[in-house]
Order: sequence, then C-alpha cells, then structure tokens
Amino acid sequence: MLVRGIVFYLESDLPSEVKFLLEDFRLAVNNAIRAGLQARVTSRNALVKIAYKDFRQEHPRMYSQHLVSAFEVACGVLKNHRKRFRKGVASRIPYVKRQLMKAENQAYKLNRKSGVIDLPIRAGCHVGLRLIVSQYHRKYLDDMSLSLGSLTVLPNRVIVAFRKDAPKPFVPESALSLDTNERSLDGVFVEGDVAKAVKAEFPDVAVIQQRHHDRRKRLQKKKAHDRRTSRNLCRREGAREHHRVEYKLHQVANSVLKFAEERRSAIVLEDLKGFKSKRSKELNQRLSMWPRRKLHQIIEYKAQWRCIPVVKVDPRNSSRTCPICGRMQYSRMGAEFACECGWRLDRHINASINLLQTAISKGMAGGLRFNPGAFQHDVMMTLYEPATAARSEPNGTSGIFEVT
Ligand SMILES: [Zn+2]
Repeated sequence: MLVRGIVFYLESDLPSEVKFLLEDFRLAVNNAIRAGLQARVTSRNALVKIAYKDFRQEHPRMYSQHLVSAFEVACGVLKNHRKRFRKGVASRIPYVKRQLMKAENQAYKLNRKSGVIDLPIRAGCHVGLRLIVSQYHRKYLDDMSLSLGSLTVLPNRVIVAFRKDAPKPFVPESALSLDTNERSLDGVFVEGDVAKAVKAEFPDVAVIQQRHHDRRKRLQKKKAHDRRTSRNLCRREGAREHHRVEYKLHQVANSVLKFAEERRSAIVLEDLKGFKSKRSKELNQRLSMWPRRKLHQIIEYKAQWRCIPVVKVDPRNSSRTCPICGRMQYSRMGAEFACECGWRLDRHINASINLLQTAISKGMAGGLRFNPGAFQHDVMMTLYEPATAARSEPNGTSGIFEVT
C-alpha cells in the first residue's frame, strides 16, 4: 500500500471548536505517553486497555474515535523514544508541544467534489472545514482509484493521506544509471545499442547550504549572550534551509522521473545503506550535510507511485573499476578515469557505468544488455539544469515544495 500525504490550506481560520479540540488532543497524547511510560507498554492495544477508562473520564466530551487515535499518536512517540533509548541516545521524556490532531479515515468525512471536510468534535457537534483546492489537489481528489487515509489537523493546515495499492513497476525498455554526487547526478542512459551520458546539475543546493551554514554561525556569535534567542533564530534559519533544499531536490527528482517515464527506463542508483567512506573527517562532514539519501528517498517513492522500476546496487569500487577490462585503480584520480587499457572517461559517468553493469549482471534490470564500447563520448543529455534567473525559487510561500 502506498500512502501520500497532501497538504491543504484552509479558506478561513480554524473554528474555535477545532482549536479546543487540538489542545485537548495534545493533552490526551501527553497523558497517554505518561501512562505508557509508567506501565512500560508501547502497543496501542495495551495502552487502550490500561488507560481508556480513565481517559474517558478526563476527556468526557471528546469523540471516542479521536481518543483512540490519540493513543495511536502516543504509541508512535513512545516507539521512537524506546528506539533512541535502546541505541543509547540520550533523550528526554517525550512531551508533545506542537498542536496536532490525527483522525483515522472512519472518523472524518471529506467531500471530494466540494473539498469540505466534516470533522466530528463530540456527539452532536460537527465542524466543516473548507479546503483551498488547486489544480494539483484536484488530481488527487478526482482520482477515485485513490482511497482516503488519515487526516492530520495542524493550526494552519491539514494533511490528507491518499492511499493506493502498490502497482507493479513496468518492464523497462531502457535504463538510466545515476551516480550521486555533491553537485550533480551523473550517469548513462542506455537504449538499444546506444549509450549516452546524462547529467542533472544542482550546484545551488550546496550554495544554499553553505549560505545558511554561514548565517547560523554568524547568529550564534552575535547572540552568544542569549542562548534562547540564538537557538530560536538558528532553528528558523534551519527550517528555511530545509524548505529551500527540499524544493530543489523535488525539482531534480521530477525531471529525472519524467525522463525515465517517457522512455520506460529502469533507474539504477547506488545503495547508500551502510555506506561508509574512508574519506577525511572534513569531507565527510561536508558530504553528510548534502542530503543524498534524501534525494534517493524522493526519487524512490515518486518512482513507486508512477510505476517506474528502481534498482539499487552496492556501490563498492564502482568509482575505481574499469568497465572494459575490470582492472581496479588504487591511486586517487582526478576528474577523469583513465585505465591502462586505454579507456578514459569522466570519473562520475564511469562510476555509473559500473553501477549499471552490476545491475545487469545480477539480472536486476530486466533483459537489458549494455556494451561499454557503444558509449557515445560526444553526446551529453541534460536531465535537469537550474534556471538561470536570479531567483528561481518561490518566495517561501508554503507548501509549494510538495508539488509534483
Ligand atoms: Zn581497463
């Protein structure tokens, strides 16, 4: 089952009944967390068993379905807490500060034509929330193959989960193999007997990160005497950075997927799980700032939604093996990979060829074949290029990074 959360904004402010409900829900979640910690339980059913009766008395007016989903939310928090605790990561006793409420799909009604949510507050009291529906939202509302999942209400927006059965990926007719680098995705596109280099560049991600990093450093220095303000400002800076980077990554992922969908390609990526490099500490720090895993996650879930097959391959030695003769290089290379046998190619593209060959040799790319000798050195296809305009991003208007 695939689930996708879509953000909707409301035509007007939340009615006061819902504001109270949000606050009640938050209290209920925090109480449930405390009860769960005391009784050392983390499953929802166990929590319901030990705490439901008391809760019914404490929150006599809350719709009972909401109460149950408060347990659900508390469970999620408790599970995370326990995971951190087991790993030995110091963590405080969890406490939810943010106003939030979650309703399961049987606890609310959404009129998909008019975009109005009917949310029960308590017996005999319902509230209608009118959503702002754009073309993008229409795509989800009108697609009846999607069923509705849970609803999350936040003070200024709601998130509706849309669900669909995981579709089978199509049988690939070509392959797009990509090596993930700090400023670009580089790779090869193979169709029939032809192989061409491809590139998706995003130099601005690193620029954005550097700029926000510097800004945070400056803020910390300036507000060194006031930790609370400094922390708040830095947090805000961090949220901005996150939004801007995320927006870029979505754009890159979308163009890659559009390309793959049009040509019925399987996408080959390096498997970053358990990936540890022997690079210097500094370089590692810089690279870990760069959200390559995040980009892969975005590509993967979007590909699943669009039935595009994604193959993940162990990247070990992919950047130092010669795809023609199989020799391995031990010295560090420059921008070009050069082998004794005469093979020369851009280092990153060479790595992607090795990824593709691994995928093919393991039978993960359907019946595709690939001959490195057929590689056309002089052709470069561009999958994504940052806009040349001075400012290609929207001015922080919310929710826009969700756009497909
Ligand atoms: Zn060679």
